[in-house]
Amino acid sequence: MNKRISKISNEVQDRDSVAWKKLCEYIEQVAESGSDEFVPREVLGDELFAQIFTLPESIGKLKKVKKVGLYGSNLKRIPPEIGEMESLEYFDPYTSYNLHWFPFEIYKCKNLKDSRISTRALYGNYKNRMGFPKLDHNPVRYFGDKLKCSVCNKDLTYETTNQKWISAYIGTDTIPMLANLCSSECEQKLPIPPENYVQVPHKGGADLVQPLDEDELWEIEMAKREKAEKENITEQKTDEQIDTEPETTKLDVSKLPILKLVRKIWEK
Ligand SMILES: [Zn+2]
Repeated sequence: MNKRISKISNEVQDRDSVAWKKLCEYIEQVAESGSDEFVPREVLGDELFAQIFTLPESIGKLKKVKKVGLYGSNLKRIPPEIGEMESLEYFDPYTSYNLHWFPFEIYKCKNLKDSRISTRALYGNYKNRMGFPKLDHNPVRYFGDKLKCSVCNKDLTYETTNQKWISAYIGTDTIPMLANLCSSECEQKLPIPPENYVQVPHKGGADLVQPLDEDELWEIEMAKREKAEKENITEQKTDEQIDTEPETTKLDVSKLPILKLVRKIWEK
């Protein structure tokens, strides 16, 4: 299988743009008003919202916000400060197809109970197992030089951090997350991924072995059925040879899964 591995782009946002400045102002307003919703598209309008590729670090100030609405955004990443949004309950970046991963800090939003994420766009998702970028060659850099351990909050630098990918369940989705780690103790505190995901924190890259994707599992299943059908026919034939004449109609029915398999491969 040829799995496409994308590159992490670190310089994603023009911070001098009108769109960015308006977004920063909006965050200040929401923080001051104590509103429980953060839906930037409604304030920026479609054109400016389309120029937003990450969120300002100041989202950490949105302590009262329960709902984050980012439907249809062009976002490429979310900053780790999302972990400071302690009231967050509902996170909706649905149809944000450039959002392939999240910071591990989102796992710390303990009130998060519902999410609507386009999971097909995520690294490692079971539908297609999109490859994880290799962190050794292509580390993730957030804005500025400050960095903290994603688990214990200890101050780190880009020289001292150990970055790893981990997939886990948040809200109502399994998502890939990037963790900055200060030590093996903190690495051991990461959650255990769901069964059909890579079971350990890892560095990504083309050599990473992931569980099979949905299509691959389907093909194996069809091959199994085909084999079972064939064996069944052989057995039937043996019986039929003994007592009655062969029923040719049975053969046509048994061909059906093979045809489906051929069609499936052809459609790819
Ligand atoms: Zn730590």
